[in-house]
Amino acid sequence: MSLSVEQFKKDYKKSFETMFVNSYDEGSVDQQFHALGNLVRTYIADEWRNARQHYIDKKVKQVYYFSMEFLPGRQLKSNLYNMGILDTAKEGLEELGLDFKTIAESEVDPGLGNGGLGRLASCFMDSMASLGIPGHGSGIRYRYGLFQQKFIDGYQVELPDNWLRNGNVWEVRNSNDAVIVRIGGNVWMRPDGTGGLEPVYENTKNILAVPYDIPSIGYNNVSINTLRLWSAELPPEEEDKYFSIEEAEKIKEITEVLYPDDSNYEGRLLRLKQEYFLVSAGVQSILRHYKKYNLPRKNIPDKIAIHINDTHPALVIPELMRILLDEEKLSWDKAWEITKKTCSYTNHTLLREAMETWPVDMVKELLPRMYQIIEEINRRHIEKKTPLYGRRLTNSTSIIQNGQIHMAHLSIIGSHSINGVAQLHSNLLKDEVLADFAEMYPYKFNNKTNGITQRRWLHLANPELTELITDNIGPEWKTNPAELKVLKGYEKSDEVLERLAEVKLHNKQRLAAYIQEHTGLKVDPTALFDVQIKRLHAYKRQHLQALHILDRYLQIKENPEIDMQPRVFIFGAKAAPSYLYAKQIIKVINAIGEVVNNDPDVGDKIKVVFFENYGVSLAEKIIPAADISEQISLAGKEASGTGNMKLMLNGALTMATLDGANVEIRDYVGEENMFLFGLTTEEVYEYYRNGTYSSREIYESNPRLKRALDALVDGTIPNIEEEGRVLFDSLIQYNDEYFVLKDFDSFIEAQKRADELYRDKKAWSQKSLINIASSGPFSADYTIQRYADEIWKAQPQGELTENRVHSFDEPI
Ligand SMILES: *Cc1c(COP(=O)(O)O)cnc(C)c1O
Repeated sequence: MSLSVEQFKKDYKKSFETMFVNSYDEGSVDQQFHALGNLVRTYIADEWRNARQHYIDKKVKQVYYFSMEFLPGRQLKSNLYNMGILDTAKEGLEELGLDFKTIAESEVDPGLGNGGLGRLASCFMDSMASLGIPGHGSGIRYRYGLFQQKFIDGYQVELPDNWLRNGNVWEVRNSNDAVIVRIGGNVWMRPDGTGGLEPVYENTKNILAVPYDIPSIGYNNVSINTLRLWSAELPPEEEDKYFSIEEAEKIKEITEVLYPDDSNYEGRLLRLKQEYFLVSAGVQSILRHYKKYNLPRKNIPDKIAIHINDTHPALVIPELMRILLDEEKLSWDKAWEITKKTCSYTNHTLLREAMETWPVDMVKELLPRMYQIIEEINRRHIEKKTPLYGRRLTNSTSIIQNGQIHMAHLSIIGSHSINGVAQLHSNLLKDEVLADFAEMYPYKFNNKTNGITQRRWLHLANPELTELITDNIGPEWKTNPAELKVLKGYEKSDEVLERLAEVKLHNKQRLAAYIQEHTGLKVDPTALFDVQIKRLHAYKRQHLQALHILDRYLQIKENPEIDMQPRVFIFGAKAAPSYLYAKQIIKVINAIGEVVNNDPDVGDKIKVVFFENYGVSLAEKIIPAADISEQISLAGKEASGTGNMKLMLNGALTMATLDGANVEIRDYVGEENMFLFGLTTEEVYEYYRNGTYSSREIYESNPRLKRALDALVDGTIPNIEEEGRVLFDSLIQYNDEYFVLKDFDSFIEAQKRADELYRDKKAWSQKSLINIASSGPFSADYTIQRYADEIWKAQPQGELTENRVHSFDEPI
């Protein structure tokens, strides 16, 4: 939008003064933030309403992205930027004597997700709006987000995240669109008088699902989509049915907390309620909206695409069936046809323990009608597939097995597309983990490599680098990320390389100041900043990096005069509260930090910084300052990763195993511009097949590694008697599930190459430049374009069509 600074100032004052009975220069920072957020909302109100009306008028196909998690990050800067008025607002506020940075930083960062999966959903929201794809998010408005992490004596402590304390300026409560979700009770079928059956519900618990809508504003501000988050409330007309406050609390409890577990979880019953609550509210609301199109029900798949982000919302499938069967009175075959054509599913994991299952008894009791429908889907699957594929394949793919409902099986059988999130991951799904399904439904399987929005992760997080790029290659790359590769032409330009090094140094200076302010630790900004930020999980192998640090420390202790490249080891990671081993790794790393940060022999050679409370806002500060990006999971375990893409985009060099999207990063950037090490997926599977892995053998034959491991238990690092022992035993006694020991040597060797390269500033900057220039393909705009073209069949709308990114460029 176009807006003058004068107009903005006038509008801002008015916004402030109508909201708070006070003059604009007398408010708190929080009030200033709310006045600004409120102003943004008034600016977009017409366009938001118009977009919704346009979709109805033109009967446009709409995408609904169902996800139990969204990690949108702060919205203020992103919204102003996408609207094209960020600079205007900054200038206007400055003229009013207000500090934009302080205001922007006062916004809470909603922690409605755990990590990569939730952040992906939010990057996709940004890209859908920016490409003009009519695509909406469907999620839960958790009263409390993911816990706030603190360290006490190096141990993780979890505090509640009361993110709604001061309200949420971006949301609109749409009580008009509330729906009733039924759980519990009994269901039985009776003749409906027309030859069919209808369900009779008894003693159900009725929950009012109220949507809170948040605008999703596209870059250049033409398309405004909606993130709809549902909240559970007591239905007013039923208030007197609930006799106790306790019972009323049970209803609200459904949307009280996000489950703080990334890959496997418990707290089971409530979690299942949450999943059904999201699904039922979302699907009811979509079908209600569809009625406004005045089209026959058989056209539903032409106008609606429902996407299931991992299996958590897989009940979309039986819920859509329920409505089509019970309320719309369609036959099973017609309903099934519509459901399959409407739904699509993304798988996010290769870890078997993270594949979601629910006990039959639990589903029967909590969601009796869902159970009946799932059972019938399964019965028909077996009946139809047995003659075609035989008993073995049919049994292994059936939804109900050994008293458990397999949500991935339901998702695959009930949708027309299943995709993995990186090429390697999609191949492993097809060839290993879900091979039986791939044999039955080869046409359903496809790959959609993850992506990230460059707007948040470069334009906004790293303005100096953004300016450098634009000064050299013009602004075209901002809407057409493939153009970033033009930057490769500057590989030999000393001027550009020096400026790139300078930008990195500035970002590191800023981060160093932030580290000192928040941890009291002084770090040297000219040291190599070595960054590992991601959820804490054994398969991601933060403990491999810990052993690397110990190895360096022991070298220094052996020879305090040693010439060693100074490094700052930076970690950010939350562990699931119930994941003891992950918490023990945190404690061990913090204890190592305590020792090395305070040992005068070490000095600046090693500093260890473990940030508390890693999340989107912290990532935005750390990533622009990273020299090395640690992507060191055991090959074949990380589905894709997106942190790897954000860091590469900001000029970090990747230290990586050939896992997830690291493989594609290698393909684009070239092996010589990163540090590869470790076993390949084939080698890992080979070990699995012949069962010959012996970590004890490695321990006993590798003195250097043995020395680092022994430091965990011999008192070198104090205060980890228990944790050090647990870690040591898991790696030696219990044969090292993630092959940390096997990869140690090649990891250390790769780190040595990194040190050597870092001494050659120009060579390092060249590789950094090539990384930035090669990261265009990982724009989520491309990912979304492929989802829209190949899975959803959704068209971009309106003026934004011409803004569409160009077709995907092959690597050069
Ligand atoms: C990108 C991101 C992740 C995902 O990181 P991976 O390294 O891919 O696991 C997790 N958390 C936050 C806050 C992120 O921004």
